[in-house]
Amino acid sequence: MEQSNGHDDQSYIPEISFGIVVDASEQQILGAQCGLLCQSLEEELKSRFPMFAWQLKLLVRHDFPQCRPRDPLEILEFISDLKIEYALDFVLGITAIRLVSRFEQATDAVPSNMLEAGVISISRLLEMEDRQQALQAMLGLCRHVLGHLWGLEHSDDSVMRPREFWTADLPRDWSQDEIEQISHYLYSIADPRLEETQGAAKTPLKFYLQVLAREGWNIGADILFSRGWLMMLRLGRFTAATAVSIIFLFLSAEAWEMGAAIQSKWLNIVLAAVILAATLSLYFGQNLHTVGRADRMMEQSVRSRLVLMGTLLAGITSFWINLFIISLVIIFVLPDTVLMGWAGIKDGVLPIFHFAKLMATFGIVASALGGNLEEEHDLKAVLIYTEET
Ligand SMILES: [Zn+2]
Repeated sequence: MEQSNGHDDQSYIPEISFGIVVDASEQQILGAQCGLLCQSLEEELKSRFPMFAWQLKLLVRHDFPQCRPRDPLEILEFISDLKIEYALDFVLGITAIRLVSRFEQATDAVPSNMLEAGVISISRLLEMEDRQQALQAMLGLCRHVLGHLWGLEHSDDSVMRPREFWTADLPRDWSQDEIEQISHYLYSIADPRLEETQGAAKTPLKFYLQVLAREGWNIGADILFSRGWLMMLRLGRFTAATAVSIIFLFLSAEAWEMGAAIQSKWLNIVLAAVILAATLSLYFGQNLHTVGRADRMMEQSVRSRLVLMGTLLAGITSFWINLFIISLVIIFVLPDTVLMGWAGIKDGVLPIFHFAKLMATFGIVASALGGNLEEEHDLKAVLIYTEET
């Protein structure tokens, strides 16, 4: 192997532990096909990425979340708990029962980059006549999901091409570039976990800071990758509550009077406090702190929670920016004289940035209330799912 792996010590082989959790309740359907899939996947990973020592663990579980069709969110939480319990780096959950789809027409799989876990349903693929073709389609789907867990973006020239329905059609494989990208990513996560090292802190606060120091950049990249700013588009009630409240605010003279009374520097402090409070209220209001086991000091679960909260914060901040722009436009369109009358400003110019900031901040207060009206599962799903495919 000519490839340089970034480690000077030639004998050092980083270890990656990989879990496949199989839904045992439909074993007769899942049976041979699933065994074949796991075996092919294992052989493939070992030959593709020989620079890592792959530890594959197959877990056949009878306590898979039982609802029909299966809820990917419940499965993701279930397998990511197992991932932490068995100290795995990645985990795939495989079921033969259809998955509930939240945002798309139908879904065969849901990867979660945040939880380093993915759930795959082979139900639709099992309907294919040709067993060999079905296996190829399943392997393609697995590669697509793993690609997401390992930081790949969509691409039309490889298996990372998004599809409505998974068949054995080409391309079924990663591109050469993507394989290199994956190796690079795997090196970054193959290091020992913080709790396995001597220097791990004993108190939660110190432990969190240590995780931030070690993983800060990666956590930041994950937050960007999770695209928190798109989350509002998927949350109907959340957005509706905000829109309605903003319209009422614009039409009430009190809001304008208040805007005139509040000083700009205080407004900045209020704004920061509101964004923080909105993030915390959604985080705890939606039970997001229970994701990745709150009671344990483990690098992976701390990391998931930091990414989750960061994504929420990024989402709310970008939502505020959107509201600010919308408010600016509305203020621009409404006649100045009327607004100045409402605000009680006798002469001079209307401080439009100040008012737009105020309206956007009110909007965030409303959205935090509206967000807690949203089904708990939907908000969680928006944050945790990388996609539905
Ligand atoms: Zn995808």
